[in-house]
Amino acid sequence: MSRSLWITGLLASTMLLAGCSGAGPAENPSTGTVGSPAERTSAAATPVPTETPTPTPVEEPLTGFVVAVDPGHNGGNAAHPAEVTAPVPDGRGGIKACNTTGTASATDYPEHAFNWEVAAAVRERLEDLGAEVVLSREDDEGVGPCVDERGQFAGDAGADVLVSIHANGTEDTSAAGFHMIVVEDSPHAGVDEPSRTLAEDMVEAFGAADLAPNPAYGDDGIVARTDIAGLNHAKVPAVLVECGEMRNPDEAALMESAAGRERYAAAIVAGVQEFLED
Ligand SMILES: [Zn+2]
Repeated sequence: MSRSLWITGLLASTMLLAGCSGAGPAENPSTGTVGSPAERTSAAATPVPTETPTPTPVEEPLTGFVVAVDPGHNGGNAAHPAEVTAPVPDGRGGIKACNTTGTASATDYPEHAFNWEVAAAVRERLEDLGAEVVLSREDDEGVGPCVDERGQFAGDAGADVLVSIHANGTEDTSAAGFHMIVVEDSPHAGVDEPSRTLAEDMVEAFGAADLAPNPAYGDDGIVARTDIAGLNHAKVPAVLVECGEMRNPDEAALMESAAGRERYAAAIVAGVQEFLED
């Protein structure tokens, strides 16, 4: 058989096989080539020149999405009380302090450091999925971020979604679990409903990561508030994730471990991905 005939026969057979998973050589008696030992030998001995296979570029699932990540508080806040307590617009016509120092574990692991480290892990994971990530602060040594950076930066950056990362500081050390905060009656149109969906996706992702909600914050682990300036200023779907309770010894141990922070980060990214891909 000439090479061109052989190729034609092989192509025809391949197409037949590809078109029907149940089709075997017996269904193609006219060519009599598929699977015959002679052909296999011939193919092995005389490789058919083919173009160098080009790997099909696999588009990462979050390509084209912009995710705004706000690691709550900042490492310099405690040392700069005047700047941190400076009044800023609360997003509803009133004022409130720029920021706070955040909470800390019993072993003095500060919330701002936890938030920053989880945010860094979240950023890396999101970028691996193809998303563009914008952060509300550049490091863990500054002051703020004030509401301008916390809430408005997401809309300014054209973000599809805003995730603010925090840990809670309930005094009762038996309190445990995450909760999600969404805006109630956002001053910006079209934010309430997708923010709720985002929070629900986040609750599901945390559940899948074997993290439980704090029952003090309702059955579904989601609370809607009007007093979170960062959420009030957000013009995009936004959720404030309280990963857990820093005064709870078990949760503090999880937060203080790199593996634990990766677990929180993975859950946050899973929640974002679920929301964006829906
Ligand atoms: Zn916080």
